[in-house]
Amino acid sequence: MSSILNSIVNGKVHNLGYPLEIEEVGGIHGSGNSNLRQEININDGTLQDMGGHIGVDFSVPVETQRMSMTKVRTLIGELEINKNVTKALVDENVNLREQMNSQRAMLLSLQQQMQFMMIERRHLFRHPAYLVHFMADHLKMNALYWGLGTLFLVNHTDEFSRDEVVRFVFSCIDESNGGFGAAPNHDAHMLSTLSALQVLKMYDAVGELSLEQRKGVVQFVKSMQLPDGSFQGDQFGEVDTRFVYNALQCLSILEELTPSIVDAAVDWILQCQNFDGCFGMVPGSESHAAQGFTCLGALSIANALDKLPNKEILEWWLSDRQVDSGGLNGRPEKLPDVCYSWWVLSSLAMLGKLHYIDGKKLQKFILSCQDTDKGGISDRKDKEVDVYHTFFGIAGLSLLGYDDLRKVDPIYCLPVDVTSTIKKYPYSH
Ligand SMILES: [Zn+2]
Repeated sequence: MSSILNSIVNGKVHNLGYPLEIEEVGGIHGSGNSNLRQEININDGTLQDMGGHIGVDFSVPVETQRMSMTKVRTLIGELEINKNVTKALVDENVNLREQMNSQRAMLLSLQQQMQFMMIERRHLFRHPAYLVHFMADHLKMNALYWGLGTLFLVNHTDEFSRDEVVRFVFSCIDESNGGFGAAPNHDAHMLSTLSALQVLKMYDAVGELSLEQRKGVVQFVKSMQLPDGSFQGDQFGEVDTRFVYNALQCLSILEELTPSIVDAAVDWILQCQNFDGCFGMVPGSESHAAQGFTCLGALSIANALDKLPNKEILEWWLSDRQVDSGGLNGRPEKLPDVCYSWWVLSSLAMLGKLHYIDGKKLQKFILSCQDTDKGGISDRKDKEVDVYHTFFGIAGLSLLGYDDLRKVDPIYCLPVDVTSTIKKYPYSH
């Protein structure tokens, strides 16, 4: 409201010496030459012109002016109400528009993400130097799984040539022990062996392993188990709960799990649980959400989740990972990171407690970590995107039921329609 309008409300209008007009929208202005006077006197000194302006006629007796002032005040009140209604409508409209814009932005980013993945694809086979460390040879097989996994989850399964991919995976078999290396002529490792089988599984190509190759992979995986039930990553002996998960998923995909392998592995995993409910890399080492995922995944594949004590404490520890920004961290006091959207969320999903965190806030956090120019997702807002965080960001969004992403299996980290064909342990035959 202008000060002139207030002066009317406060009854100081006499001092101005000429009629005032109230505009339809609630504004008011003085009218020096006053055409108003020549307009229709609608009621007791209240003037209204053809444009709907209303004012007070000061040529009439003071008593009449006072009456018309009351009327003007009522009209001002009505205008006030109308103004508020209009403002609420405008706000609502702005809100709707903002919602529409953000929906549009999300769609656009997803499209860009696909483009990003396509760039990855181009470079994956032809220019491995492009993504310096992710495309480095020792991570090539993992990167292939992350890239393809993303494309499968966003329903772009035909971006790669299936034959080309399968041929590449087969070229990474380490003839000396039967496992898969990260690239051709690399030593076999549990991490690359699992990625290789996951890629073959996505393309329904596991059956293309010859009997001998299949035996070789099974032999390699089994040979990595140590007497205490743990698994090492390769012949050099590093032990980590991750490798138990790798081993059990490999054997699950190949439907080669046996009680002698599974029981010892489960016993060892249970030893890695800490007092806070989560798991470390080995017995007694610090809890970490990624280790929580691998241990819960291994127990789920072994159909042994019911053997886990302190489940409630673990569920609380996992739900505590959500920070104010909506993102999830891997340990207390650490910064949030998009990849934990997967490690933490899938763990909660396996425990049937996905609702323990605020999914809407997490979704917003993941989407805020996109590069809206290039596509792709980084670990945190405004950082460099990479194929690893893009995959786990998309997988997290899939678990949250975002948009029309393909559903992901929280245990295997593969599309559910891919894992639905895996025979579940214990086998009935
Ligand atoms: Zn990360």
